[in-house]
Amino acid sequence: GGGQEPGAHGEKIFVSVRVRPLNEKEIAKNDSCDWECVSNDTILYKSGLAEQRSTHPNAYTFDRVYGCDSTTKQVYEEGVKKVALSALNGINSSVFAYGQTSSGKTYTMTGITQYAISDIFDYIKKQNDREFVLKFSAIEIYNECVRDLLSADGTQLRLLDDPVKGTVVDKLTEIRLKNWTHLMQLLGMCEAQRHIGETSMNEVSSRSHQIIRLTIESSPSEFARIGSASSLTATVNFVDLAGSERASQTLSAGTRLKEGCHINRSLLTLGTVIRKLSKSRNGHVPYRDSKLTRILQNSLGGNARTAIVCTLSPAHAHLEQSRNTLLFAVCAK
Ligand code: ADP
Ligand code: MG
Repeated sequence: GGGQEPGAHGEKIFVSVRVRPLNEKEIAKNDSCDWECVSNDTILYKSGLAEQRSTHPNAYTFDRVYGCDSTTKQVYEEGVKKVALSALNGINSSVFAYGQTSSGKTYTMTGITQYAISDIFDYIKKQNDREFVLKFSAIEIYNECVRDLLSADGTQLRLLDDPVKGTVVDKLTEIRLKNWTHLMQLLGMCEAQRHIGETSMNEVSSRSHQIIRLTIESSPSEFARIGSASSLTATVNFVDLAGSERASQTLSAGTRLKEGCHINRSLLTLGTVIRKLSKSRNGHVPYRDSKLTRILQNSLGGNARTAIVCTLSPAHAHLEQSRNTLLFAVCAK
């Protein structure tokens, strides 16, 4: 990333990395944190054994890195905020949390979503020239099935190709968002829906993607000065991805079938799309290969802005997955 406008067209994706603190279990096991943020943009693998130094880099540089004492507010303010709030100016955007299960994706994305929508409410209150309408919707993608997290019936939704709007989720509930209390209610409903019918919450969240989507419509108010811009509509997506371990299992011939159900098509395709977008502006981008990338197509690439927060579990036991996450982050830069 870098430059004045994080995630802007022609700019790279804004990529940051966050390490969560060791949890009680890890501390009890005497595990130690492998990673140290040596500056605001560089993270270092501390325990680097000699034989690993030859096969892996030990220092990785991104737009920002956050150590285990960081706050979600910091993660939000320094880059993600600009991307998320660009929807106020009619520019679509997406913010992703990517990382292995239990590395802090949901913790980080929940906070980011709330800070961003709070800022959006504040901004709107101060605007006299324009009137705003906020529409909230929430989508879960689980085994390439799309579900509406605001509907109790759990039916699968279809994706349709609209000649004007591009891919739309057919019959997706959209609720006009009133205020902060209303937001909290809706987020609570989404969380409850995400649990339904599943025995293990961990299994659901490790395999599914959640998109909290806010569409911001604005038009000149009655009192607007002549010449103020016409109507604008844009969407910001807060995406809590499936655990990245779902993208990194290698397929050997004998285990193909068994492993097949663990591989997450949407996550793999997202990786490919992001790599393509970060490398060049031409060439085929395979948006249509998965539900996630189809749904996000208008908010990824093109004029859209994108930020990715890659989350790491600090413990030595997770070293390999952490390295995989950093490789993904390097490819997204
Ligand atoms: P994921 O969504 O990646 O599976 P979670 O966000 O659920 O992971 O985080 C796993 C656990 O670690 C949760 O109990 C969460 O509250 C805690 N946690 C994650 N990140 C942090 C952090 N930065 N600071 C404190 N606790 C955290
Ligand atoms: Mg989670």
